[in-house]
Amino acid sequence: MVRDFLKEKYECVVCGKVFYEGQGIRIKREGLQLDFHSSKCAALFFKRLIEESPSAECVSETAKKLIDEFKELREKRSKKHI
Ligand SMILES: [Zn+2]
Repeated sequence: MVRDFLKEKYECVVCGKVFYEGQGIRIKREGLQLDFHSSKCAALFFKRLIEESPSAECVSETAKKLIDEFKELREKRSKKHI
């Protein structure tokens, strides 16, 4: 077992809770580092990110693409069960 103090520590950007490597959700893109200790904190953050972004254009395009992608996956999965 790896002792926790030897692991890298991260702080949840929403609630400040400290978590260790291998836990939580870490997202990195172009100088933006987002660390969430739980999916609940991530959901809260992304809800506000979408609602409060000055322009919904760039997110809505990606969101639509993802919705289609997940829908396709669901359809593939449901076909397998029949
Ligand atoms: Zn948190």
